Amino acid sequence: MTTQSTGTSDATIGAKFPMTIIEKLSDAGLRFISASPVELQRRIWICVGFEEEGERLGQHPHLAFLYGGRDWLRVHDLHQAIADEFSGAENVLTRVHSECLLGDAFGSTMCDCGDQMRLAMEEMESQRGGVFLYLRQEGRGIGMSNKLDALALQYGFCQGERKHHRHSSDEANLALGFAIDERSYNGAAGFLNALGIASVQLITGNPGKIGDLETAGIRVSSALDLWTKGGSSERATAEIEEKVARGYIYQR
Ligand SMILES: [Zn+2]
Repeated sequence: MTTQSTGTSDATIGAKFPMTIIEKLSDAGLRFISASPVELQRRIWICVGFEEEGERLGQHPHLAFLYGGRDWLRVHDLHQAIADEFSGAENVLTRVHSECLLGDAFGSTMCDCGDQMRLAMEEMESQRGGVFLYLRQEGRGIGMSNKLDALALQYGFCQGERKHHRHSSDEANLALGFAIDERSYNGAAGFLNALGIASVQLITGNPGKIGDLETAGIRVSSALDLWTKGGSSERATAEIEEKVARGYIYQR
């Protein structure tokens, strides 16, 4: 956050260039897609598209949103500035968020994903720094089409026909032949490693996510649970109770 880009002046030509984010991602087994400043709620973030080697996400890459101390619109070498921004930084406020289109974009009150996303980005802005990773693993990794089948089961429908039993969200995944949680955090860990972050303060209540990131070499200095009082619907509260039964830790 405090490291400034050294730039690539004429004097450095012929010398060994510092690695750009493209090269650092490649070293971490990831493929850089593109990067640009984006304006969110009147503030400038950097958005980087990436995928794991072997992934074919096409026009829907994973996205990393970076909020930092520098004026991104004035940097001369964006790819270098991204590589330098969090290099060596401790306790970087970080959210590893898996896509939930209905919650993130449509205000779904079936879960707390949208709240988590909004609160995490607001916290990064107020602390003037953070990394928000948006991973394309909708529906805990089963994809949008399967998620619709899972939601139908949760509302008591099976292939359009009303049944007596309403599945919980965990039961629905299992009934469709999936694990309760199919997500992977390897791409997220690779991105954080490529940024050279020394340690993260992770916005999560999910010990499994912390464990997976630590296994992949990320030092998690602490976990932060963000929530809004009274903001959850009955349906979202039921899902949170399921998460607690699966070992999630919330300070609410
Ligand atoms: Zn959700």
